[in-house]
Amino acid sequence: MFYKGDFHIHSTASDGDLTPTEIVRLASDEHMDIISITDHNTILGIDEAVKSGAKFGVTVIPGVELSTRHKNKSVHILGYFKDDRYKDKNFERFLRLVKNHKARDAKHLINLNSGINKSNYRLSVYEGIRALKLFGAIVVLAHPILINKNCLTEIINMPFDGIEAKHFRHTPSDIEFFIKIAVESGLFYTAGSDFHTNKQTNLKHGLIGDIYLNSREIDKFLKILF
Ligand SMILES: [Zn+2]
Ligand SMILES: [Zn+2]
Repeated sequence: MFYKGDFHIHSTASDGDLTPTEIVRLASDEHMDIISITDHNTILGIDEAVKSGAKFGVTVIPGVELSTRHKNKSVHILGYFKDDRYKDKNFERFLRLVKNHKARDAKHLINLNSGINKSNYRLSVYEGIRALKLFGAIVVLAHPILINKNCLTEIINMPFDGIEAKHFRHTPSDIEFFIKIAVESGLFYTAGSDFHTNKQTNLKHGLIGDIYLNSREIDKFLKILF
């Protein structure tokens, strides 16, 4: 049984200020018993976090935040792994290509040519979802508040498994709104601080402990993951 979970955290493996070990220690201090490291387009922080998690009594779910595009706007997708398929060499290569803005090569690598995305040089939301699922991830729409309102329905109708209804930047009424959408769409929801730094000046990203899933919510998430 878990009590508090934060499933959206960045480490020094991408643009965060803290190492995976420092994050786990901080999470433990904040009484988080389950977290996920979700660096931008890389899984390189996960193994250290899992190891430190075992030491500090914090369960670490392997995750990633994938950059995709929809109608020329950025859409972030969170992927969570129940096993170690995130270590697949092809997945690592895929992420490295996405990170280096070589989406065309990335898609080619895993035969992802959907034909839906006109611009072959971008990774579409749909292709991002497919790529993550190809490696066994469950897929969650990150911080939906940042999605253009006109595109929200069409994006949510893509084959996501969940929505990050609880995000640091969501007001209580946003949270209520996105939980309702999740329930109506048959999706589960997650919570994420989107932690990047513990310098208080950062308004875009929260601190670990700011927002979390409770026991009942974590239970639902884990039932879908495992
Ligand atoms: Zn993001
Ligand atoms: Zn993020």
